[in-house]
Amino acid sequence: MSCRPCADAEANPLTGSIGFEDKCDGCAARSLAHSPLYFVAARSGALTPAYRDALQSRFGRAWKSAHEQVKAWAQRIDHARRKS
Ligand SMILES: [Zn+2]
Repeated sequence: MSCRPCADAEANPLTGSIGFEDKCDGCAARSLAHSPLYFVAARSGALTPAYRDALQSRFGRAWKSAHEQVKAWAQRIDHARRKS
């Protein structure tokens, strides 16, 4: 969690949608939080197969903790959007 896009997103979650580092887990989680895959899963209140596949293909066995990161980012992004 120390790349440039992550640092920017820490300060302002909405700017984090501009750049992602491929190899950065924080960026990957944030990227998913912005994605339609997560949007659909969150709206249906369940882990959709497509969303879980995306988590598993990026994070492997750590997908569950990655999902927690995605949720945390989604909350911060949502909160920032409401304020703006
Ligand atoms: Zn990053």
